[in-house]
Amino acid sequence: MAASNAEMVSGLRAQGFATPRVAEAMLKVDRLLFMPERFRQYAYADYPVPIGFGQTISAPGVVAIMSSELDVQPGMSVLEVGTGSGYQAAILAELAGSRGKVFSIERIPEARGLAKDNLAKSGHAGIRLFVGDGSMGLPGEAPFDRIIVTAASPAVPPALVAQLKDGGKLVIPVGSAYSQELVLVEKRGGDVSERRLLPVVFVPLIGEHGFVGEKA
Ligand code: SAM
Repeated sequence: MAASNAEMVSGLRAQGFATPRVAEAMLKVDRLLFMPERFRQYAYADYPVPIGFGQTISAPGVVAIMSSELDVQPGMSVLEVGTGSGYQAAILAELAGSRGKVFSIERIPEARGLAKDNLAKSGHAGIRLFVGDGSMGLPGEAPFDRIIVTAASPAVPPALVAQLKDGGKLVIPVGSAYSQELVLVEKRGGDVSERRLLPVVFVPLIGEHGFVGEKA
C-alpha cells in the first residue's frame, strides 16, 4: 500500500491509469482529507472506502481512469453526478482550473454536507454543490462540456446526453446494480457514440433515470 499521496499517484502513473495532467491534479489533492477518521490508514490504498450513508469514496485507480477518459480542459464547465466525499469533484476542479466551473449533485443531503466540509479543508470551496436526483442532470446550469457519473446506471440517462454540449464527453458506469462497464459517450455534430472501456463496480444511481430505490 502506498505510504503517501505522491507514492499513490506515482503508482497510478506507472500502471498507465492517469494521464500526466490527471496525475498532476491528483498530486494537488490529498486523498487523506476525504477519508473518514476510522479508515485513515487506507487513504492511499487503491480501494473504495465506506464514507457513511451506505456510500463510498471510489478507488483512486478508478478516479484516475475516469478523469483521464473525461479529458477535462482548463475553462470547461463540468458536472459530476454523485458527490460522495467530494474527492472526485476536487480533482475535476484542479483540471478545469480557475476559469472553469465544477458542479456536483448528490442525492443524500448529509453526504453533500460531508463533501462541503471536506472541500473546504482541501481548498476547493468554489465547487457548486447541489442536492437532488442527478440522473436528471442539472438543467439550470446546462449545457456542460463534460459530465461524469460516479454511480451505476442501468442505461445512459437521456437527460445527461441532452445536457452535453456538442463536442462534449460523458463517462458513466452502465450495467446492473452489482456490476457494470465504464462507458464513454461522445456527442459530435448531433451524433452520439458510445465506447465500452472496462468492467467496474459502483454503488447504484438511484433516481428517475437510474435504479428505483427498492430494487437497488
Ligand atoms: N464521487 C464520489 C467521491 O469522490 O467520493 C464517490 C461517489 S459514490 C461511489 C456514489 C454517490 O452517488 C453516492 O454518494 C450516492 O449517494 C450518489 N447518488 C446515487 N444516486 C444519485 C442520484 N440520482 N443523484 C445524485 N447522487 C446520487
